[in-house]
Amino acid sequence: MAKFFVPKSHPRYWSLYYRHKLEEALEKGILATAGLIAHGRGEAFDYLIGETTIEPAEKAMKAAIAKLLLAEHPVLSVNGNVAALVPKETIELAKALNAKLEINLFYRTEERVRAIAEELKKYDPEIELLGINPTKRIPNLESERGKVDENGIWKADVVVVPLEDGDRTEALVKMGKFVITVDLNPLSRSARMADITIVDNIVRAYPRMIELAKEMRELPRKELEKIVAEYDNGKILSDVLIHMKSRLEKLAEEGVWRRENL
Ligand code: ATP
Ligand code: MG
Repeated sequence: MAKFFVPKSHPRYWSLYYRHKLEEALEKGILATAGLIAHGRGEAFDYLIGETTIEPAEKAMKAAIAKLLLAEHPVLSVNGNVAALVPKETIELAKALNAKLEINLFYRTEERVRAIAEELKKYDPEIELLGINPTKRIPNLESERGKVDENGIWKADVVVVPLEDGDRTEALVKMGKFVITVDLNPLSRSARMADITIVDNIVRAYPRMIELAKEMRELPRKELEKIVAEYDNGKILSDVLIHMKSRLEKLAEEGVWRRENL
């Protein structure tokens, strides 16, 4: 694998850094090639929101953490993109929430599951990983896409499925799961189907969610319940769209031609 040589002074340093992470993940067998396409789509929406965590995402993260702290069987799903971008943070977040981790793939192959498990174990050799031998099936999804772990997603009450396909998100919602997603595209099917949609880049969202989990775990249940009850995902998605619209209007008025920073 070619070394990452981009200087920190490059105006798109972080974008190039994470692209390199994905290239590496592809080589290690962690990522399916379609994962690269999904990432590109995510990046496009990140431009539109301004590559920063916006207020509606912060609110969605708070509600998500409250719900996860209240959950009986919370599960965080891990796919190739997640393992490539935030392996360490995924483990930290699971620990902060006392949640289980399940490797769950759209394009499931045993090799990819093994490669992802190996990657995560680099950060914590003792970490428990579900989804290695899934025995249950999500109804209405054909064989490979529907496999889930009996002790993980199957029995979960709250699941986090970041960077997930919409069809699978919808199938989980139909199973009665409370579904939280992280997705930069507020118009994707996943974003529209989930109970809580965090429209943010996972590389910003997971570190923030770890902070929130540590801060909020001391809160009384009543307060957590109130945060969840007051949360309105439809309103949050509209607020994201309004943010994008207002931002584009402002940029159009100011002009972007030969402008250094947006
Ligand atoms: P859907 O199936 O939900 O309609 P899709 O088919 O457009 O979405 P998928 O490949 O199924 O896309 O899902 C991946 C989703 O993850 C995309 O919506 C993409 O915008 C989003 N995404 C990609 N990279 C990131 C990232 N780093 N952070 C957050 N979201 C991301
Ligand atoms: Mg899809």
